[in-house]
Amino acid sequence: MSPNKIWSELKPRLRTHFSEKTYESWLKFLELEELNNGRIYLSVPTRFLRDWITNRYLDQLLKLWQESMPGVFSLEVLVKPQNTPAESMDSSQTVTKQSTQDTSFIQKTKTNLDGDNKLDNRYTFDTFVVGKPNELAYAAAQRVADSKTIYFNPLFFHGGVGLGKTHLMHAIAWHINHNHPKRKVLYLSAEQFMHRFVRALRHKDIIAFRDQFRSVDVLMIDDVQFISGKDSTQEEFFHTFNALVDKKKQIILSADKSPTELQGLEERVRSRLGWGLVVDIHPTTYELRLGILASKVESIDLVIPENVIEFLAHKITSNIRELEGALNRIVAHATLVGQKITLESTQAVLRDLLRANDKVMTIEDIQKQVAEHYNVRISDMYSNRRLRIVARPRQIAMYLAKKMTSASLPEIGRKFGGRDHTTVMHGVKKVEELLQQDTQFADDLYMLENILKK
Ligand code: ADP
Ligand code: MG
Repeated sequence: MSPNKIWSELKPRLRTHFSEKTYESWLKFLELEELNNGRIYLSVPTRFLRDWITNRYLDQLLKLWQESMPGVFSLEVLVKPQNTPAESMDSSQTVTKQSTQDTSFIQKTKTNLDGDNKLDNRYTFDTFVVGKPNELAYAAAQRVADSKTIYFNPLFFHGGVGLGKTHLMHAIAWHINHNHPKRKVLYLSAEQFMHRFVRALRHKDIIAFRDQFRSVDVLMIDDVQFISGKDSTQEEFFHTFNALVDKKKQIILSADKSPTELQGLEERVRSRLGWGLVVDIHPTTYELRLGILASKVESIDLVIPENVIEFLAHKITSNIRELEGALNRIVAHATLVGQKITLESTQAVLRDLLRANDKVMTIEDIQKQVAEHYNVRISDMYSNRRLRIVARPRQIAMYLAKKMTSASLPEIGRKFGGRDHTTVMHGVKKVEELLQQDTQFADDLYMLENILKK
């Protein structure tokens, strides 16, 4: 019997051999990669799953294989990410496939809607937890996924990193793929769009490139901010966009900012982006974080005390990706050292992460960083010098103090050499105006903010 055949019979039996819960949580992700000289290679999408399965179920899995195939003497689980192209696999985890008759054992496991775009099979509507910050985005995503009528074109999601934009886009793709398999969906990042475009230019097959993009029913481009400042890619994107809109095909886009806030876009592109429905995914709330943790915990085979869940929801407020990361870390730690999860162990394991989330920005931090950045003295932050080269950085620091701390205008005024709150307000306004008018200035400030957040 071929390994594929054995695996297709063995895998369903794992449900009863282990428990239903174990199967649903862990083992169902296993795929057969190959049999090579008596070694079986299985794969899972994440390191976490690999470690978990390797630590707990490997011996039994090997025994089960040996019952059907006595020649098998070892079994190994590899990581094979499903959302990135296979060539980016960590080479230490790559198995050289045998080129002879064994190739028939290699299973094709990837779901692939088009070319090199892998969809993460965990990112579905089912696994998306809905709360106040994302309910509008979720509703819009479902609407678009479910109907053939175009209600809004494009649908544009924006929000900070790790808040679920990519998850929603994949969910739409899965949904359409499953329910309307004839509709052609193309999902890719703006970066991939650019690479394909550049490749097409180089190989002089721009016509094929255009045909490919113009023949889809639904085009999704993720992280559109990437094409800011890239003029010829923007131009091509603009034409693709118009062609699809003309043909009444759905376009779905995401970016870290709204179309009006995106810098470095040509005006005509920016205005097109705002044509349809622009939905903001807001930062998480405590309730949403709790909901997300609760849903993830269901699939974990360990007891996670309620106070730990509440603690995480309170403390890890930056974004959902970090929240998941925190949970994975405490679970992995508990599994590896074989200890129960407690509030104490959680605090210890997550010490660095908690510190980063805890970091409270002070006005002094901001003054120091701004002074350094614009090469003025810290004392100029509270001095009376009115020269623009010191007054402007001072206004910038006031603006950042207003934006990044909870201090009131009078409090900020006091920290800037006892200035009146109207002076602070004026400074903040001035900076806001400059942000609108001067993209260079805006980029610079954006960078400064990011330095401060680190
Ligand atoms: P973005 O694209 O906005 O940076 P992602 O879509 O990559 O964020 O989300 C980051 C992680 O958080 C992913 O693992 C995703 O599954 C998870 N996530 C985000 N929003 C939700 C949600 N509402 N419910 C469940 N998981 C979520
Ligand atoms: Mg994303």
